[in-house]
Amino acid sequence: MINIQNYDKNNVFAKILRKEIPSDKIYEDDFVYAFKDISAQAPTHILVIPKEPFCSFNDFYEKANDQTILNMIRTIGKITKKLNLEDGYRIITNVGKHGGQEVPHLHFHILGGESIGPLVATKN
Ligand code: 5GP
Repeated sequence: MINIQNYDKNNVFAKILRKEIPSDKIYEDDFVYAFKDISAQAPTHILVIPKEPFCSFNDFYEKANDQTILNMIRTIGKITKKLNLEDGYRIITNVGKHGGQEVPHLHFHILGGESIGPLVATKN
């Protein structure tokens, strides 16, 4: 199980930010990096991450300064515009075990390019 209490400097997105492993960049500025998900769940599936080390959305809303939070939200918006998702899209951030978070560095999924389907996966 992942640890979202203490930041793991060797998580896969930290390695992507350090360019230790490759990624397919969509957008970058001094604070935010966006790249294609390696296992796309929709025609457009982009991950947007802060360059600062936040483990999850919990860490972000508790510790990030207001400007950082505002900037992140606006930047996600700008990225969706760049992706030409005129017919809509979904933004998801998974937190912890019940949220299904796999990578312990805050990330927002942007999914679009087709109807994304039900809000929650059907249980079997
Ligand atoms: P989570 O389940 O934590 O919300 O989502 C993690 C996402 O990261 C998954 O959709 C997974 O496909 C993606 N991912 C995991 N490892 C890599 C990687 O090395 N490169 C890229 N581009 N995406 C990754």
